[in-house]
Amino acid sequence: MKYLLILALALAVIWLWKAHRRSSLAEKARAQNPPPATGKSKTLQTTEVIACDVCAVHLPLNEALTGGRGVYCSEAHRRQAES
Ligand SMILES: [Zn+2]
Repeated sequence: MKYLLILALALAVIWLWKAHRRSSLAEKARAQNPPPATGKSKTLQTTEVIACDVCAVHLPLNEALTGGRGVYCSEAHRRQAES
């Protein structure tokens, strides 16, 4: 009975050691290759927001209309500012 207890204890120690090693390896892999979710939020952070020169509405730069004198939210405001 005593040997059985020692064997069980040894198995528990090995199992715990393996589980710890697996989790630290996973952490290392995560640190080296960040998950794609982090990359996605990075692209969201780099999206620049500008204000229309006529109505001051804020919009992403890739949706804005660029004119000779500034950036606008719509074709109507571009025409209004530049004519
Ligand atoms: Zn506008």
